[in-house]
Amino acid sequence: MTIPADFAQQMEAQLGAEWPAFQAALDSPAPVSIRLNTAKPIHPPADGEAIPWHRNAYYLPKRPIFTLDPLFHAGCYYVQEASSMFIAEAFRQCFPEERPLRVLDLCAAPGGKTTLLASLLPPKSLLLANEVIKTRYPILRQNVIKWGQAEVYTSQHDPADFAALEGWFDLVLVDAPCSGEGLFRKDPQAMSEWSRSNVQLCHRRQQRILKTAAPLVRPGGVLMYSTCTYNTAENRDNVKSLTQDDAFTLTPLSVPKDWGIVDTGWGYQFYPHRLRGEGFFLACLRKESSESASFSRKTKPANLGQRVPRKQKEQLQAWIRADLPLQCFQNDRGHIIAVLEHQLEDLAILTTTLPRMHWGKPLGEFKRQDFIPRHELALSTLLSPQIERLALDHTTALQYLKRENIQWPTAHPGWQLASYEGHTLGWLKVLPRRINNYLPKMWRIRMDIPSR
Ligand code: SAM
Repeated sequence: MTIPADFAQQMEAQLGAEWPAFQAALDSPAPVSIRLNTAKPIHPPADGEAIPWHRNAYYLPKRPIFTLDPLFHAGCYYVQEASSMFIAEAFRQCFPEERPLRVLDLCAAPGGKTTLLASLLPPKSLLLANEVIKTRYPILRQNVIKWGQAEVYTSQHDPADFAALEGWFDLVLVDAPCSGEGLFRKDPQAMSEWSRSNVQLCHRRQQRILKTAAPLVRPGGVLMYSTCTYNTAENRDNVKSLTQDDAFTLTPLSVPKDWGIVDTGWGYQFYPHRLRGEGFFLACLRKESSESASFSRKTKPANLGQRVPRKQKEQLQAWIRADLPLQCFQNDRGHIIAVLEHQLEDLAILTTTLPRMHWGKPLGEFKRQDFIPRHELALSTLLSPQIERLALDHTTALQYLKRENIQWPTAHPGWQLASYEGHTLGWLKVLPRRINNYLPKMWRIRMDIPSR
């Protein structure tokens, strides 16, 4: 691996005697790790090794072809670099009480940290995952849908569009776009794009994002700032500005020494030669709370479309869990959208501020007397456990995920869920002579499947 000379100089100055070990680590393979979805429980991997700072995450001895695992498509786990999972430990220490939180993940695609935070939310919390880049938004949507939780919403907005939500969030995560130094061994292209001037450009962009993110945190709330870089311009200098200009105090975390994480005094730095993970940086900052903690904006009733008529609501009972307080609306495209009742007021505020927000779980649509379920429902934790499932074997599950027609002689007619090892993959409609595969085209596996 040819390291840019300026980067080598910067790291040698930063690491001193540790530089050769760091350099050697860049030439070793990156560890592979996954984080389990507690809302879709599976057995921990038999050959997995626990990651110290996340109780549901494991290193794997080698990289499997995840595309060939139906449980990956069911959203039972997320493939995520281990260092960044430290956010779970930071969250646990910053929010020890179990009270509902409003959380904003401002730079969220593809959704690694969104899905991580989603699994940590106390009951009745709300998480909004935002991504400004239009072309990156679909992958965030897809990962949030797969993860399945109804309390997670997505939006596609510039950070500046959130200005009206000043003081509204208990936690804002800024996982900033950065120069990517910490990903060099996973992504050699990041190395070819690295330069001192690009670091400065990233620093200035991060400053702009933080200037808009800082006011969104309520007094007493927390701003988490993370990057996957090592340099002080993108890490320390940005944290310093927050403590000087924006009334934040750096929150110290209790971190066992043997985890190998470096406390820089301005945040926590992860180096690949000290631990099994990529380069990462995290600082947690609490907003000083002399001001009132209440959000003063008046709420208008949410304009979420028409309420679903009683008859259709009764019909929907067959499709969604009976134990959740849900409100169902029909939007102007005829889609039925479910929202958790206790979030209606918050959604009224969010939807009037953020027009490009997906504000509920699409369940499906009524066509004459019939209800046509949507893929989002098949993967959602709102799904009724009573719906019939075809428990597919591995080969047939992959055929389903390739969007091929499948044969299943004993299937009953009507809508059924394709499932694998108890976890749902999508919808099927069983007709007298064939089974229609309703997996959306963009979700299908494109690779050729090797015969086992
Ligand atoms: N949090 C994500 C995860 O864990 O999967 C990774 C986020 S990545 C480090 C940074 C994100 O910021 C990218 O998705 C990028 O598109 C987005 N971004 C780029 N420019 C931005 C800007 N000016 N403001 C906000 N976000 C930006």
